[in-house]
Amino acid sequence: MTVPAPPLSDVAGLIKLRIARDHEAESSFELKAFKELQVFESSYPFAFFDYFRIPYTVRPGLAIGDGSRAPVSVHQIRTMEGPGAVSRSLLWQGTANPSALPASCQLGRYRLRDFTFFGHVAVGAAVPGTLSRFSHGWHSAEQILDSAGHVRAAVWQDGDGNIFLPFDPAEVMQQFWSERYRQVGRSPMAIRGRAALVRGYYLARPALPRRLQLRLRRAFTRAQDRTSFPSWPVEDSLHNLYAWLFGLVAQLAGRPVPFVDLWPEGRSCALVLTHDVETDVGYRSLDLLRGPERQLGYRSSWNFVPLRYKVAEDVIRKLQEEGCEVGVHGLRHDGHDLGSKRLVAKRLPAMREYADRWQAVGFRSPSTQRQWELMPTLGFEYDSSYSDTDPYEPQPGGCCSYLPYFNASMVELPITLPQDHTLFAILQNSDADVWIRKAQFLREHHGMVLALTHPDYAADPRMAEGYWSLLECFRGDPTVWHALPREVATWWRQRAGSVVRGAGDNWRIEGPASPSGRIRFAYADSPREPARANDGGAIPSGQMRTSPMRFS
Ligand SMILES: [Zn+2]
Repeated sequence: MTVPAPPLSDVAGLIKLRIARDHEAESSFELKAFKELQVFESSYPFAFFDYFRIPYTVRPGLAIGDGSRAPVSVHQIRTMEGPGAVSRSLLWQGTANPSALPASCQLGRYRLRDFTFFGHVAVGAAVPGTLSRFSHGWHSAEQILDSAGHVRAAVWQDGDGNIFLPFDPAEVMQQFWSERYRQVGRSPMAIRGRAALVRGYYLARPALPRRLQLRLRRAFTRAQDRTSFPSWPVEDSLHNLYAWLFGLVAQLAGRPVPFVDLWPEGRSCALVLTHDVETDVGYRSLDLLRGPERQLGYRSSWNFVPLRYKVAEDVIRKLQEEGCEVGVHGLRHDGHDLGSKRLVAKRLPAMREYADRWQAVGFRSPSTQRQWELMPTLGFEYDSSYSDTDPYEPQPGGCCSYLPYFNASMVELPITLPQDHTLFAILQNSDADVWIRKAQFLREHHGMVLALTHPDYAADPRMAEGYWSLLECFRGDPTVWHALPREVATWWRQRAGSVVRGAGDNWRIEGPASPSGRIRFAYADSPREPARANDGGAIPSGQMRTSPMRFS
């Protein structure tokens, strides 16, 4: 039986991602419906499905086209229905082949509902011509605004409930993850100028007195307060996009959509404690942070700089015997470690040597200096040099993700709590309120709480007390996965190597995540509040707030 398509505008804003606590709670009716049907097939790989491990089949033969020679740039995912039922499609503008992009596709910063995004969007008030090859009766279902708040494009819907996204979710996700969005709308000269300034800061910094460093950083901070994206301490645009897409596909499917849970053993979030040991002062003060952890039963990861101070083998061994992990924090921390491809080539062999000696599989770049293309060439299993949002770093920005993701074969583990130095030295906070609130936000949103603290600054009582209250906050919470970064990276690989398949009376996970992975479902909620008209005026700014998504 065909479920009539509700108008998108009535539903999309109200769609909340709801995840069942465990799939046993699902009604047998829903499970039965799943058993008989495959949910989706697609003309092209769909990055959003791949990322969340939503089951689907790729069939290139589905590609939209009229048989002409024009390169295909619109892709299609359709729901698979039983005999006699009509399937509905989600079409989207592909961007992988630049020569196939129509002239109407403009790279820019856009706003749709409660999220900002960057990428190519097929702009215009008229229905894109390609869609007429597919069906008729297309109309605007959702407005897309540009950064000035003017309506520039639309999400289109036809009378049968098919939907066209005028942008490519894969490109949008990559823009965030790689921080490439920071170049959108900037002139090449401004980009080069900014890069030179940051390079100069990194190089000059080791020679600057600490008080001058702080003054410079505060000056940076004042300038960066004015940047409107990403917002701080929470930027949830990317995750609001995910929630919107989850709702959209659940609505198309007319049933809950299964995916591999974000964390193993049904845990609701992950807590990862990491430390960078900056100087000899920090090296001699490990216990300022390790002490409270030991007392409260935590393990953590320690990143050392091999050639800035002497690191004794027995210090490494003792940490490892306590269940802690050791990682590599550059080579000299002098602004040159990741300065250029040439410098990396020169210093990498020594970094690798220390990684082998310390059995380290993780990397954290000094001062989080990072280049997207460079990171996977370092040869570590994971990197943790990106923040989800950090406008206060010398290299400001943020990947906007509070979940792990891949950069080629390397797992990225974003730092998702503000750094101790930012909070207490630069912003002069007196307590850990921002840490606690952000950590609670991440727990509610099934994210990864990844903290970076430095023993070098832990003599500051605000910082020491703040760290204690953060540890206290998660102590004894069985829903939280207390994990080392290497464990998270391994899990994320297992998850990415696994698929959900219908089997017997149930769905199950096949692949390396099957022993500890769980299946969850995303729902299209029934409307709870009237959709708000998008008048093209004020664009709401991202701020810390309570859960915009509901989970059950
Ligand atoms: Zn450092």
